[in-house]
Amino acid sequence: MLLAEFSPIALIATTPTGAKILQVLCQNQAATLWVPESLRKNTVEENIYASFYTGSLKNHIANLWQTHCAFVFCLATGAVMRLIAPLLQHKSTDPAVVVVDETGRFVISLCSGHQGGADQLARLIALQLNATPVLTGASTGLGLPAVDMLGVPFGWRRGEGDWTGVSAAVARGKVVRVIQEAGSTLWQNHLPPKHPFEFGESATPQAKIWITSKLSHSQTRHGASLHLSPSSTLPLPEVHWHPRVLWVGVGCERGTSRELIAAAIQQVFAANNLAESAIAGIATIDIKADEVALMELCQERNWPLKTFCSEILRTVSVPNPSQVVEQEVGTPSVAEAAALCAACHLTPNPSPLAERGVRFFVPKQIFRLQGESGAVTVAIAQAEKEYIGRTGKILLVGTGPGHLEQMTPAAQIAVSSADAVIGYSLYIELIAPLLRPGQIVESLPITQERQRAQRAIELANWGLSVAVISSGDCGIYGMGGLVLEELQSLGWDGKTPNIQIFPGISALQAAASRVGTPLMHDFCAISLSDLLTPWEAIEKRLEAAAMADFVTALYNPRSQTRTQQLIIARDIFLKYRQPSTPVAVVRSAYRQDEQITLTTLDKLLDTTVDMLTTVLIGNSHTRTHANWMITPRGYLGFSG
Ligand code: SAH
Repeated sequence: MLLAEFSPIALIATTPTGAKILQVLCQNQAATLWVPESLRKNTVEENIYASFYTGSLKNHIANLWQTHCAFVFCLATGAVMRLIAPLLQHKSTDPAVVVVDETGRFVISLCSGHQGGADQLARLIALQLNATPVLTGASTGLGLPAVDMLGVPFGWRRGEGDWTGVSAAVARGKVVRVIQEAGSTLWQNHLPPKHPFEFGESATPQAKIWITSKLSHSQTRHGASLHLSPSSTLPLPEVHWHPRVLWVGVGCERGTSRELIAAAIQQVFAANNLAESAIAGIATIDIKADEVALMELCQERNWPLKTFCSEILRTVSVPNPSQVVEQEVGTPSVAEAAALCAACHLTPNPSPLAERGVRFFVPKQIFRLQGESGAVTVAIAQAEKEYIGRTGKILLVGTGPGHLEQMTPAAQIAVSSADAVIGYSLYIELIAPLLRPGQIVESLPITQERQRAQRAIELANWGLSVAVISSGDCGIYGMGGLVLEELQSLGWDGKTPNIQIFPGISALQAAASRVGTPLMHDFCAISLSDLLTPWEAIEKRLEAAAMADFVTALYNPRSQTRTQQLIIARDIFLKYRQPSTPVAVVRSAYRQDEQITLTTLDKLLDTTVDMLTTVLIGNSHTRTHANWMITPRGYLGFSG
């Protein structure tokens, strides 16, 4: 499930050891492990689930090449190179090729590191195998997003350009000017402190990145020869990214052909020097939702078809209203009004276009083709925010008590694969080694949990995959509940955004594991924080837990301002339990500043307790032995 974006994956091993290493990756994923027929006996004996190929591996790889997104070999890199060399075509179409060494310690991204995703796949496999990813791309080494991957999270499309030239300039640390005329600038806020990008006009650039809805600038605006680097007569290398910001408003007569609509769009784009890759989708009136040509065109190009009813369209003020159109469909404008509505994210109002986030507008033009029936009207509006074209995801991730070893591989993969990571700054620091260049990382202060949840939903609704991290388990006094509550209040359908939950080791388990087996029998957790829960309710639960002889974990036991709660809690427990009841006070379990104290209920207040501490109060049978806290598994034969 976690490597789903790479599926189908072919895993190739030619030795029993290799098969054993790669089989770990078969769980949960659309991955097939292939081994030679000659290893059938070994793999069956070892209980390794594999498929078998006969004949040469070269032929076998050639057969799988076209249909697989990724290949993971446990084989010498030289052998892999010879196998794949005749099959390689272009970095934009070749599958990801990853090599794992025979000891399973290194995962090498061999080929199609960026667009094929091999770098990312190598990272994720390394997390799963507890190995080191070997990524040799220059941008990764510099902590930078690759030039040809920059816009991928936002659904931008690659346009014209010298991609190798600009990437080389970045690798050499040359000044690269970024001219961003369209789409989100969020990526700019998440670059490392030292990066070669320059957003103003100050330094002399050695390369350019255009982020725009326009076609190649140098050729059409000034002529290539004007962009010369100072030291040579060669034109500066430049590339074009096209965020999907253009909404094409279309009005047409019933039965208009798909060719005519496509030709009309093409002409308006060419005449205005616009890139068709920057098209977000088509907008029209609702009665055209079943227009065959529009539906087919949208399907073919993977464009959404947004429709609006005439009551909404007629509220939009447009440059070219038409009485004829109004009489026919009840609004004086279809193409212009629909383009504007789509670009304004469905919030038509009478304010000027600029205030509504429309950056650019091409008024309607009418097209007919000689000898063909039908007519089509096309208008274009450029939205502030790009259309990503994916269903967003929220990954609710528990990072465990603090040390990465105590975080599940699935949770690690979730963080590393997300487009954006949101969480409290301390926890983000603890998982920093999982972060990768180009990720949007937003750490918010501890008090702003609700804002964090809202921000995650906002980014996911836009189309990003967002990891929301909590320490311990995200569903235990964590961010998980806040996100789901917030989604519920927004009328969430349960699917969009998609939610996936990655459990983590909660503080009570982490604390327990450091002192013995205090949670061996019935237990409960009570948070002493009355910020979100009334104190009377907390007291009631303390009373009930103490009375029912539950082992009790106290979360949020004491803060700088909340000092009385722990005293009251202790007094309540003393009403029902012996003063000598064992108590563990565990602070910052599995972190560098970990502190552990084993004490008793009557002496609990002699130990320093703060917000990084969990207090475990034993039940009436809990005892200590040689500095270990033991709650017996059962009490048969005991009274009490
Ligand atoms: N979601 C977290 C709990 C967050 S509430 C979880 O499942 O663990 C915050 C409280 O958790 C802290 O006040 C403290 O009581 C406890 N806590 C979190 N991390 C801890 C750690 N490493 N050691 C001890 N207690 C911890």
